[in-house]
Amino acid sequence: MNDCVFCRIVTGTAPATKVFEDDAVCAFLDIRPITRGHTLVIPKQHATELDDLDPELGALVFRTGHRLARALRRGGLASDGANLVLNDGVAAFQTVGHVHLHVVPRKHGDKLSFAKGFLLRRPHETESTAAAIRAGLTALGQAEGAQG
Ligand code: 5GP
Ligand code: ZN
Repeated sequence: MNDCVFCRIVTGTAPATKVFEDDAVCAFLDIRPITRGHTLVIPKQHATELDDLDPELGALVFRTGHRLARALRRGGLASDGANLVLNDGVAAFQTVGHVHLHVVPRKHGDKLSFAKGFLLRRPHETESTAAAIRAGLTALGQAEGAQG
């Protein structure tokens, strides 16, 4: 039996607030967010560390993180930027053994609230946060559609 919590999130046997998924990747809200909208992007296929991850799948994980960072600027969260971080290995503070890319929304001048969030890691209202991110993805898709 696979006791990986992120694999269980992929199969739906562990709860998570998902904001995006396709055949290869899944993105969901971090249970202990640093800032509102802090999202994790994972490959659906289990890989413990980057050493185990198919590079093509790694590219899809980053592609999704890139898209989410752009969507966060457009949805209700209206971020000004994001930190995209991947802790590879226990030596690098990886605490969940399934590769994941953090997408942490940032605002201009948020240094103090970011530091507070880093210490407290308190969840925000999850459904409205997820809805704001999904709205950003929709807005991004519409903008791309309008460009042809
Ligand atoms: P790491 O330090 O491994 O890069 O970060 C692991 C992240 O996973 C942390 O930010 C932590 O809050 C998040 N996390 C751990 N367990 C769960 C879980 O069961 N569900 C969700 N949504 N996030 C989790
Ligand atoms: Zn896993």
